[in-house]
Amino acid sequence: MSGTPKKLAELISAAEKFVVFTGAGMSTESGLADFRSSEGLWRGKDPRKTASREAMKENTEDFCDFYRWRLEQLRGVVPHQGYRILAEWEEKGLLKGVITQNVDGFHKASGSIRTAELHGRLNALRCDSCGKNHEVSDFFAQKVPRCSCGGILRPGVVLFGESLPREAFELAERITAACDLFLVLGSSLEVSPANMFPLLARQNGACLFIVNRENTPYDDRADYLSREKAGVFLRETDEALGNIL
Ligand code: NAD
Repeated sequence: MSGTPKKLAELISAAEKFVVFTGAGMSTESGLADFRSSEGLWRGKDPRKTASREAMKENTEDFCDFYRWRLEQLRGVVPHQGYRILAEWEEKGLLKGVITQNVDGFHKASGSIRTAELHGRLNALRCDSCGKNHEVSDFFAQKVPRCSCGGILRPGVVLFGESLPREAFELAERITAACDLFLVLGSSLEVSPANMFPLLARQNGACLFIVNRENTPYDDRADYLSREKAGVFLRETDEALGNIL
């Protein structure tokens, strides 16, 4: 069924446990490219050859170049108003938590507290061998930046071939299992295991509302669908919510 901001506002006002799940499409309106849409970062590339453990070990220079480029993209980019709206909904007790696949840190920077960052954080640099934390500037200091122990410096993101951080995964599981309204914003829902959460919510009887520019494999399971931009949709929903509450 076609989902409108007014409908979402009605559902939020009636829900007891509302959870939001975001993907790279949530940040495109801030100027950060996503991965899989026609304008995305993967255009013609194989993610496993660039963002995997094998790439880090065997193709280290390209790996570091790719992540330096992504870190540069983050400079001067700020979260759009939709992020702040989600944080305010949480402050007001309307939203129980956010599950995000994004690595830009925008939810926490905007004031969201209960946030499961499933894929880590781009600018949380650490040594892949000893785990020591490093400054972003260390990553720009050498072509293949290394820790004093000799290990490779890497971004704090989950690479292909790595498991998700346990704490974030458990939080996501907990809030999904309890929710009665689950909103997807800007995700292709192609990445596993993160894409299990919308299905889990649906199986538990929650209402599934998807806002995404392009088709997703779970569109046929959604109760409501919209192709609007996530930020625009959030602003309009917030306005509609103001008229209801
Ligand atoms: P994805 O690139 O696979 O899908 C993004 C989806 O968002 C696309 O289907 C696209 O149509 C849609 N979209 C683009 N702009 C939109 C908008 N304004 N409103 C609504 N929908 C919009 O991204 P994904 O599903 O998050 O999964 C891929 C991986 O991308 C994740 O692991 C994530 O870590 C990584 N990623 C993160 C960032 C970031 O942190 N900002 C950026 C790029 C990629």
